[in-house]
Amino acid sequence: MTKYLVTSALPYANGPLHFGHLAGVYIPADIYTRHKKLSGERAIHICGSDEHGVAIMLNAQKAKVPYKEYVDGWHKEHKALFDAFNIHFEYFGQTSSDYHAEEVLPWFKSLHEKGMIEPRDGQQLQCGDCHNHLPDRFVGGECYECHYPSARGDECPNCGIIIDSVKLINPVCQICESTNIKEVTVTQYYLTLSKAHEKYREWLTKKIPEFRKTVGKYVDSLTKENLHDRAISRDLDWGIDVPLAEAKGKKLYVWFDAPIGYVSNTKQWLKETGSSEDYKKDWWTNSDTKIEHFIGKDNIIFHCIIFPVMSMMSEQVNVCTDVPANQYLNLEGKQFSKSAGWYVDAKEAVEKFGSDALRYYLTAISPEASDSSFTWEGFQARLNGELANNIGNLVNRCLKFWKKNWAEGMSEEALKSYQQVDKVSELSQKLALVRDCLDEKAIKIALEISMQMGHMTNEYFSERAPWASFKMDPKIAELTIAETGAMILIVAAALNPFLPDLSQNIFSLFGNVSDESIAKIYQGDFSAIDQIFKAAGGTPVKAPKALVPKIEDDVIAALKEELGKLN
Ligand SMILES: [Zn+2]
Ligand SMILES: [Zn+2]
Repeated sequence: MTKYLVTSALPYANGPLHFGHLAGVYIPADIYTRHKKLSGERAIHICGSDEHGVAIMLNAQKAKVPYKEYVDGWHKEHKALFDAFNIHFEYFGQTSSDYHAEEVLPWFKSLHEKGMIEPRDGQQLQCGDCHNHLPDRFVGGECYECHYPSARGDECPNCGIIIDSVKLINPVCQICESTNIKEVTVTQYYLTLSKAHEKYREWLTKKIPEFRKTVGKYVDSLTKENLHDRAISRDLDWGIDVPLAEAKGKKLYVWFDAPIGYVSNTKQWLKETGSSEDYKKDWWTNSDTKIEHFIGKDNIIFHCIIFPVMSMMSEQVNVCTDVPANQYLNLEGKQFSKSAGWYVDAKEAVEKFGSDALRYYLTAISPEASDSSFTWEGFQARLNGELANNIGNLVNRCLKFWKKNWAEGMSEEALKSYQQVDKVSELSQKLALVRDCLDEKAIKIALEISMQMGHMTNEYFSERAPWASFKMDPKIAELTIAETGAMILIVAAALNPFLPDLSQNIFSLFGNVSDESIAKIYQGDFSAIDQIFKAAGGTPVKAPKALVPKIEDDVIAALKEELGKLN
């Protein structure tokens, strides 16, 4: 039986996550995994913190905190944010842990034995005062292309080119600020991707039609001619040792070990849960496993080129099945920038509005096919106009009416009458469409369709006007209310992967509804509705309170005011 190994890009333990990360990677991956589980499939969601590299070292040094303490802090912070947004992982690990370093060794060994890793001499900068080697961001200076004065040793933030640090004009040591910089010859280890070009292209050519257009086309053009060899070692004191006697003092560079984190974290999850499964045999090298990496577009090269080559050449794991990469989310039309104050604290926002409100809007504007933009007014309009009106109000009006007038329970006939309603079979078809779209990872459309289901239910309720029929013939109103109640449960099941809290809150109005019952309805087996109604005694066990609170204008105005302010 097919099983799904879903991974989300390992967040870099070096700063807060913003809405762009959540909308682009973690929320869609969570929705997809929840969908698979609700559909009765075996699915796991694996993630963890990415904790090596120069950017982390620099900030830890600035904060005067040991590296490990620094990354542990961000790891905890990120985990808490994911919990607040209801993003569930089977395991959320750390690449600075021993179990991870252990898992990296056989990868290196295998690639080395197969001639895929070799030492090469090259030029590198070294500080004449603090004597540190200065790879990547340890050095800064003037860009040799656009002459921007504060280019970093790995890239120029102004013109975007990848910087060859030895070519920087007026280089400055970022550790001690010295300008006394010299060029030295050092040996580094290279992953010789070029040797795998043919084999890689054979795999990619088959994959292109399956990948999203934004992914396939891009990777195809990047790799048509050749693959470029890349250095995988650095002279640093934070990272995993290069496991060769002659490479003393060298560490593996962060991008080599980071994706292996998906594998080590799977292994650790099985170990900690006492599972009898084997992380390779049952998951990573199992032909029934679909390996799916959710990432942002900045990570495409690593997940569609480098990690696949590492996987196929080392033969440690199977090569991925799919890489659903999303585009970027902006904030009010501009890039998120913490340093410029163009930023929303995701933690504060989720405390203020709850996870469902933000999950709803961030999915509705998900940058699946092109970049999109978060706006506070858009958030308010869609929350109030769609989620509060379409779902919140409907549940409120229908179930309050039910509880008020049939507190002792409805007749058997009324509770079953939904089975004869045409709109219910229409809802069932829509629900199947939601599942199909989610299978295709068309998550934004899937949410739109489940909201259409809410709209259809609203229409049915309004057209039948039970408040009016109640005065003439309560029997007719009773049928309408029970039918609408059943339809609400179908809509709640459709919304479950997107808005787990709201969905649960709706079900809980009929008592303790099991996950199995929700999954049954989700799969289109509505017999669970009869069981839920029966167990509740034919009436809601409690009257709904405001399920989706409306957002007031002054709250939004204050949040807009905050943007661009530096505190
Ligand atoms: Zn220095
Ligand atoms: Zn530049």
